[in-house]
This record gives sequence, C-alpha cells and structure tokens, in this order.
Amino acid sequence: MSPRQFEDAEGSASGLTARGWLSPSQADELSRRLGVSPRHGPRIPPFGAIAVRKGFVTAEIMEEIVRNQTRLVGAGVRFHLGELLIRRALLSISQALEILAEQGITLLACAKCASQYNVFDAGEGSFSCPACDSTLAPPAAVTTLEVRGTLNKPLTGV
Ligand SMILES: [Zn+2]
Repeated sequence: MSPRQFEDAEGSASGLTARGWLSPSQADELSRRLGVSPRHGPRIPPFGAIAVRKGFVTAEIMEEIVRNQTRLVGAGVRFHLGELLIRRALLSISQALEILAEQGITLLACAKCASQYNVFDAGEGSFSCPACDSTLAPPAAVTTLEVRGTLNKPLTGV
C-alpha cells in the first residue's frame, strides 16, 4: 500500500478532489451519498473504531464526528480523525498515540524543519525527512497529531 493510498483510505473524496477528479461540490455530493447514508450510517475508519473499542469515545459521538469530518472533507478541509477528536477535547494525545500504535503507526518528527510523519511498521529502520532529508526521530513531546505525510517501512530497513 502506498502512502497516498493510505491517506485516501481516510478521506477518499478529498483525495479525488486533490487530484482534480472531482470538484468540491461533487466530492460533497459523493460524501453525502457514500458516507452519511441514513440507512447505513457513516463509515467509521479504523482509528475511530479502535477509539470506540477502547472506550475512549462512545460510538454515538464517533458517528457524529465522522459525519462532521465528511462534511469538512466535502468542503475541501481535511483533518485526521485523531486530530479532530483532540481539537474537540474528546481524545487526549496519549490516547491517540495508543491507537496509532495499535495500527502499527509510529509518529516521527524532523528536528530540523519540525515536520511530523506517520510511519508504518517503523521497527528499527531509519527514515529521512522527505522535506529536508534530515533523520527523523520520535518527537520529544507530542503536541499535535498533524502530519505532513505518511511513510512506509524502508526497503533497506533493519
Ligand atoms: Zn525536515
């Protein structure tokens, strides 16, 4: 799975918009049809499902949040679900990191340009910042889940 595909898994309509395949209003319409059908309810992404299973957020609140997120995506605004929950004080940073860990995602930061990345299956591999080529390391203190992108395990990792 490429980083691009992973990102799209959580905001497919906005991914299509970013590529110019859909206008924002078309993406909004698509989100309305696919994401918030009254019959099926909103599709809760894995991050949200884990948050509910761990009891961090109730299923009712999560559905509401996902509905709002789908609306924001339709309007061309994109948030990681975890970031959205943290901004609304529904989830703490440490709870969010616990969920990411369960998804096999490690948050790594660049000391030089301060960009953060979600890294899949990081293990002992070393990663360079795609923006400035410095080595990435776990951030000393996590203050936000906002990331510049998603990185996969390096082909030549340990
Ligand atoms: Zn950097």
